[in-house]
Amino acid sequence: MAEKQTEEKKSVLPSKSDFSEWYNELLLAGEIMDVRYPVKGLYVWFPFGFEVRKRTYSLIRELLDKDHKEALFPLLIPETEFMKEAEHIKGFENEVYWVTHGGKNELDVKLALRPTSETAIYPMYKVWVRSHADLPIKIYQIVNTFRYETKHTRPLIRLREITSFKEAHTVHATWDEAAEQVREATRIYQEFYMRLAIPTIVSKRPEWDKFPGADYTMAVDTLMPDNKTLQIGTAHHLGSNFAKTFDIKYEDAKGEQQYAHQTCYGISERSIAALISIHGDDKGLVFPPLVAPVQVVIIPILFGKSEEIITACRQVRDCLTAAGIRTAIDESDERPGAKYYRWEMKGVPLRIEIGPRDLKNNAATVVRRDSGSKESIPLGNIVEEVNKRFRVIHESLYERANSSLKERIFDCESIEEVKDKIQGGIARIAWCGERECGLAMEEAVGAGILGIPEGDMGSGTGNCPVCKKETGNMAIMARTY
Ligand code: ZN
Repeated sequence: MAEKQTEEKKSVLPSKSDFSEWYNELLLAGEIMDVRYPVKGLYVWFPFGFEVRKRTYSLIRELLDKDHKEALFPLLIPETEFMKEAEHIKGFENEVYWVTHGGKNELDVKLALRPTSETAIYPMYKVWVRSHADLPIKIYQIVNTFRYETKHTRPLIRLREITSFKEAHTVHATWDEAAEQVREATRIYQEFYMRLAIPTIVSKRPEWDKFPGADYTMAVDTLMPDNKTLQIGTAHHLGSNFAKTFDIKYEDAKGEQQYAHQTCYGISERSIAALISIHGDDKGLVFPPLVAPVQVVIIPILFGKSEEIITACRQVRDCLTAAGIRTAIDESDERPGAKYYRWEMKGVPLRIEIGPRDLKNNAATVVRRDSGSKESIPLGNIVEEVNKRFRVIHESLYERANSSLKERIFDCESIEEVKDKIQGGIARIAWCGERECGLAMEEAVGAGILGIPEGDMGSGTGNCPVCKKETGNMAIMARTY
């Protein structure tokens, strides 16, 4: 019976080459999210998925807590505040859920379920900011937000309830300080994704694709297995646009009233969509050790001398647990093969097998989830050996993901070439930076310009395919989620 179940389970996960199907099945089989909740675009975190979320978000907390403070603002935003910033309203008006009643009474002022929290936070910043000595303010919160998505919804990627929106909102004296904060935000996000072994591209979004109400938007993208890019972080320079609307002023050193300058930046559970999609394989989840809920699973290989082997396995577990390594031991009655299958699905980075032969050699067999490679390691040095492998696994997951990204970036010289190449990933092409040319390129290709990337990827020489002007700017284009 156990064998039969295993066989049935094996057929649950389609090949990753069929990415969309694989992704949906993995969410269920890997116990990340249950999609059976009876409201479109709302999903349920399984306890296991929630633990992945907890560990992932503890990384971003750790990075932000160095010089940000965590706070919590209300979910409901009065219409009077929400409607203050014209661009902002235009950007969100079709996506807002409204609370119109309290019990049977119609509310005097409708309340918006936050689609994002600028208009919840900034009325308070007006109260809190008095003098230049109050600045900078750097606050973040991790909350749910609601957006009435009309496009096809997808777990962790396109949602009506974003359950894990980490949004930071900062206030500064000058425009330049806010610009530096935007750079700092993208650095923090790159570091965060490095810890998830996910390679990223940072670029400045075109003017027509910026956050509603911002001076400009920087975005962090990654490339998914199906060759579409996923935006997994954004940082917006708000200038003093919201400060003027919400009257956020400070008294400068000369005693004069000045409008503040602001930024906001966010990530969501899309970080977890990228994590499971980029590293996972046909056998299930693959986690970098830093975020794996279980980092090591010990499987006793039993032939007769059971007691001795179980004892050795428990000793190894205690030893690893004492060293802070999240360790499980599978003492169930199933055959080893069924156990391997179960823990592979869960993405456990290292499996330790101890059988009679291992014990005789005072050793254990370790198997890496990412590569499947098998080695014998001495039991006497187990903590160090395991930690050494964690570092190697993290690096090799990043290297593999990074080469996969690099292999799917194509230099193009014409619109025709872009149309062809974006089926396989990201197209890189010269762009003069003019709005008309950019929009014409998007129209002709049928896909968006992500922007001009930071670093070498964004510079080169070429001619804008529309106006033919020579330029040193290279833009990237891709099909996006
Ligand atoms: Zn041009």
